[in-house]
Amino acid sequence: VRKKVNEMEPYVPGKSIKEIAEKYGLREEDIVKLGSNENPLGPSPAAVRAMEEELESVNRYPESGLQDLRETVADYSGVDAEQVIIGGDGADEIIEVLGKTFMDPGCEFVVPMPSYMYYEYTLQSHDARPAYAVWNVEENRLELDSVLESLSDSTRLVFLCTPNNPTGGLIDKEDIRAVLESTDALVVVDEAYFEFAGVNNVDLLPEYENLFIMRTFSKVMGLAGMRIGYGLGSPALIEYMHRVKPVFSLTRLSHAAALATLNDREYIRRSAEYSIKSREFLYRELKKFDNIRVFRSYANYLLLDIRDTGKRASELAEELLKRGVIVRDCTSFKGLDEYWIRVSVGTLREDRKFLEVLAEIVG
Ligand code: PMP
Repeated sequence: VRKKVNEMEPYVPGKSIKEIAEKYGLREEDIVKLGSNENPLGPSPAAVRAMEEELESVNRYPESGLQDLRETVADYSGVDAEQVIIGGDGADEIIEVLGKTFMDPGCEFVVPMPSYMYYEYTLQSHDARPAYAVWNVEENRLELDSVLESLSDSTRLVFLCTPNNPTGGLIDKEDIRAVLESTDALVVVDEAYFEFAGVNNVDLLPEYENLFIMRTFSKVMGLAGMRIGYGLGSPALIEYMHRVKPVFSLTRLSHAAALATLNDREYIRRSAEYSIKSREFLYRELKKFDNIRVFRSYANYLLLDIRDTGKRASELAEELLKRGVIVRDCTSFKGLDEYWIRVSVGTLREDRKFLEVLAEIVG
């Protein structure tokens, strides 16, 4: 085994409903899952139908060129098809492809802390070194200077997540522009949650060759289980990335589901609208707890500082689990201590169940 792999810790994703049901002797249908920022309304019915129709063709390999999907994504995003790459293990595959495209051993990438942990997890296996910048949690904004100071001649990638996971804050377009102008490295703007914020950075693509935007079908599109992500960049960049991308990683079912969902714009619009309404409800209700601090979010989750409850996040998460509510204990996020919880926005019924159970424990 490679030295680097020997040293690595495994990535621990959010818990699944099945795991929790088994561990705590609960019925799966009684569990409220607010740990992984998914769409609580279920997939688009059109996507389900499209997958059913595709089932009979699964003896055939998937399409590898994905031209129709690239064109549909391009139309949705406001770019050309040759500016689109599709990832078959979600946006996480896109990160892996970025690693394969850009990272020689010893090169560096910049990540703010706290932010999405999978960037570092993926790139460490490419023998790349992280340079940490700062996300100011109290003010919920990127410390631009810390990013600029982290840049070096060895920087190949800079990750900027907006809205940021797990804090929910946005990065100003002017700050993104400042980073783009300060480096030749590729600046990866992760817009996994942009539909909940109503803003994006596609308008910067024609101006900056070193900009890449990464997105996913796992959030507002309701297809986390189908593992589909995409990236937008210059045609030259996308061509390089295709050289190292796994050829058949997008399954036939995922391909069909992605196309059907993008053609169901009403579902996407309704999903975003619902989660935004639900987020504002949850935010208002959480504000009423005097021992919990809740932060403004532009995504489909809220970050909570729970230190005044006298409990650690691991304890509170465990007590919620026993009562059938899954949230994200953020202790493993670099840049946060052991007193932070991230809760996804659910249906209004799920939000109420979470609030009720939380009040039982800390109210
Ligand atoms: N970026 C961010 C900020 C995320 O939160 C996630 C999902 N947790 C991803 C990327 C990856 O999404 P997926 O692999 O499900 O497409």
